[in-house]
Amino acid sequence: MDEALVRARKLLENVTPLKSDCGRVCGAACCRSSQGEETGMLLFPGEEEEYSGKPGWTIEHTAMGPMVICSGTCDRTERPLACRFFPLLPVLRDGRAAVMTDLRARSVCPLARQGLSAMDPAFREAVREAGECLRGEETQAAFLQALAEEQEEIRRLRRALGGNGHV
Ligand code: SF4
Ligand code: SF4
Repeated sequence: MDEALVRARKLLENVTPLKSDCGRVCGAACCRSSQGEETGMLLFPGEEEEYSGKPGWTIEHTAMGPMVICSGTCDRTERPLACRFFPLLPVLRDGRAAVMTDLRARSVCPLARQGLSAMDPAFREAVREAGECLRGEETQAAFLQALAEEQEEIRRLRRALGGNGHV
């Protein structure tokens, strides 16, 4: 893992969307998947080595890069960065890191449906700071850009299907 990734993961190790356990509100909806319909988390560049061959973790390869599928529970120190960010995402705007609600999160996460203001400011700031770290590393910045483009594609699709594409 590069230094930016290690620091980003560390920044999100002890902060969560709410000061209390938000999983109690929704039954940890973002960690549940039904048998045969397991969904995974995209790994940031350099994270694959952390999970490859590790019991309880399966790697799949997708067009966006490696994705990890977990057992449904994990230790906070093992959590992939995508899970630490969820339901937010750092994005690059005018050369700086900003924070947005992940459009993919809306269908599962009640906080994502409420929007950024529903989340602890310390969490929002940690996601932004982690984005700043990642921005300084070329491979990570390119991955953030790819994620932002994916969000734009989701927004376009939602508009085309009659939604307002807004979270
Ligand atoms: S779905 Fe949202 S509210 Fe529920 S545990 Fe995940 S982040 Fe928290
Ligand atoms: S890795 Fe952990 S936080 Fe991420 S979905 Fe699995 S159990 Fe939930």
